[in-house]
Amino acid sequence: MSLTGKVAIVTGGSRGIGEAVSRALAQAGAAVALCARRVEAGAAVAESIAAAGGQALAIQADVGRPEEADKLVAACLEKFGRLDILVNNAGITRDGLVLRLKDEDWAEVLRVNLSGAFYCARAALRPMLRQKQGGRIINIGSVVGSMGNVGQVNYVTAKAGLVGLTKALAREVASRSITVNLVAPGFIETEMTAGLPDGVKEAYRTQIPLARFGTAGEIAAVVAFLVSEGAGYITGQVIHVNGGMWSS
Ligand code: NAP
Repeated sequence: MSLTGKVAIVTGGSRGIGEAVSRALAQAGAAVALCARRVEAGAAVAESIAAAGGQALAIQADVGRPEEADKLVAACLEKFGRLDILVNNAGITRDGLVLRLKDEDWAEVLRVNLSGAFYCARAALRPMLRQKQGGRIINIGSVVGSMGNVGQVNYVTAKAGLVGLTKALAREVASRSITVNLVAPGFIETEMTAGLPDGVKEAYRTQIPLARFGTAGEIAAVVAFLVSEGAGYITGQVIHVNGGMWSS
């Protein structure tokens, strides 16, 4: 599977799943523009990709601000001259039971996790459509976007919204050979889950038939396939990668 000659943007590429996706796409030959709010960590990932013989650029951007999503795409085009792949991976949690959830925590999670994906997709589609060579958009959702979760009404709503964004956009751009899919991870070992109390982690683990959390690399491998030429007939789909804990 080769992505040589392709250019990808990975949002939230400075750690966790986004870092693993950036590395996997670069390893397959793509030039990768990765973004984060704290660009130093992104720059370290880009340098390490370059040291391994790949091409990468770190860009500072908050995807939840439309003008920064536009600038992210512009910076990628300036450096690499084209854009073929967008992976909307940047995401945050601000958990709380519904009656205690602060308005700003509701709004912030929707702004970053859902609006951010829309702003980046809209900005990325302009060059993809201009190039007339198809394209790939992957949204990183979550198993909880399908099954729900206590204390995460904001996060679950955003992730369920991404399913709608994926399906609507897939139909809208299909005639241009641009595919849009959502990868829905289950529980994955990253900084996002590292802070969960041991008891909570254990309770989740008992619900997973494979009896372990997944790795970021296991999500990246699925994304790398979905952006490849071989996945050209898959669009508008939700691909669950969750150790068997949920199927729709
Ligand atoms: P993580 O380790 O917390 O990494 C999140 C990444 O997103 C970081 O690079 C972070 O960098 C960036 N980011 C956060 N807010 C941003 C913003 N406004 N603009 C640009 N970048 C931003 O998270 P992860 O576990 O790898 O999760 C990645 C994605 O997978 C998320 O969408 C998450 O919801 C989803 N997911 C994760 C799991 C899991 O179990 N870990 C399960 C299901 C789904 P900065 O903080 O520097 O901006």
